[in-house]
Amino acid sequence: MKILSVNAGSSSLKFTLIELPEEKTIASGLFEKIGISGSAYTIKYNGEKVKKEVELPNHTVAVQILMKELLDMKIINSLDEIEGVGHRILHGGPEYTESTILTPEVIEGISKYNELGPLHNPANLMGAKAFMDALPGVINVGVFDTAFHQTMKEREFLYPVPYEWYEKYAVRKYGFHGTSHRYINKKVSDYFKRDDLKIISCHIGNGGSLCAINAGKVVDTTMGFTPLAGIMMGSRSGNIDPSIIPYIMKKEGISAEEVVNALNKKSGLLGISGVSSDSRDVEAAAEEGNERAKLAIDMYNQRVANFLAMYNNLLGGADVICFTAGVGENSKEARQDIISRCASLGLKLDPERNNTRGEFALISSDDSSIPVYVVPTNEELMIALDTMALSNK
Ligand code: AMP
Repeated sequence: MKILSVNAGSSSLKFTLIELPEEKTIASGLFEKIGISGSAYTIKYNGEKVKKEVELPNHTVAVQILMKELLDMKIINSLDEIEGVGHRILHGGPEYTESTILTPEVIEGISKYNELGPLHNPANLMGAKAFMDALPGVINVGVFDTAFHQTMKEREFLYPVPYEWYEKYAVRKYGFHGTSHRYINKKVSDYFKRDDLKIISCHIGNGGSLCAINAGKVVDTTMGFTPLAGIMMGSRSGNIDPSIIPYIMKKEGISAEEVVNALNKKSGLLGISGVSSDSRDVEAAAEEGNERAKLAIDMYNQRVANFLAMYNNLLGGADVICFTAGVGENSKEARQDIISRCASLGLKLDPERNNTRGEFALISSDDSSIPVYVVPTNEELMIALDTMALSNK
């Protein structure tokens, strides 16, 4: 069956058309700058890439064009071939603990959590509505970034702040990248044919989070109430002392939102290096001797290593450690440096095995205390698999 896996942002719409159960990507593409000038779309199919510049006033028009292109490019012969559409939804709050069939009532229910993810959730839901209109009668499924983390216990998900903030305003850790961590858990559990594994999943890309998983259940994860918390990221600070916020507001004469915006967009690798939020640029600058780029990488890798050690302790010793996402899958230097900072745990990489990129691979040496793997993530596939599972119910 053919399933569309969709990630709709406020001005973009990414899609992958997947054949299941073969798990084969048939086509993929991106609609960009929706609602702003310079809008365009790209569709990849059969090794070819089509790019067209066209006005995209809203998501509804983008979806209409997508349907027409799927037919015109003969990617499908009829819209009936699309048997389901899965949507990435950032925030399902404490209520949506698993992927859910979308109906107008469910969309209304999810909207309650829009203020917890104001940049993403309304756009995710707008995308879903556009597909529900374009393909009436086809199942639409919401797959939440927060859902997998809902097994966390109060000890981990509560912040040590006045308890009423949790009761009145749902202030707690939610965690994100849940679909990616769930995929890693599934892949590794399938590989070892075990469902009792203690896994530390290190999703390090532009955004980044670590997740401690015990027998398929999340024990803890590094992102928090929002994706700003945890490790240092491309342009996000990760954990900082919150007192910095009012201090900078006063010093710079700016609002809380402006400070938080700087913590999201001008911090992390970019903030420290002053070069870029992209780890490749920062690594290149460091190699040329840029001291702040070197410092940014030093800070970044140390923070990942610290959480890795902490989660190993929390799990009472992990069985498997995994690296995934842009940096985790591609940068042997980052993996080597992070693991070398965990030598006290007895972790050791094999340089030859670690010389790999974007493929499932064991990278630790035989005498490493815990095996370390690269496991390429595939959130789109996970979304499609959930959609297929719900369409069969
Ligand atoms: P993601 O958010 O998972 O797409 O990851 C983006 C990050 O991965 C960026 O910091 C990229 O620099 C990094 N990345 C992507 N490809 C590579 C690569 N081939 N080598 C090193 N880093 C990479």
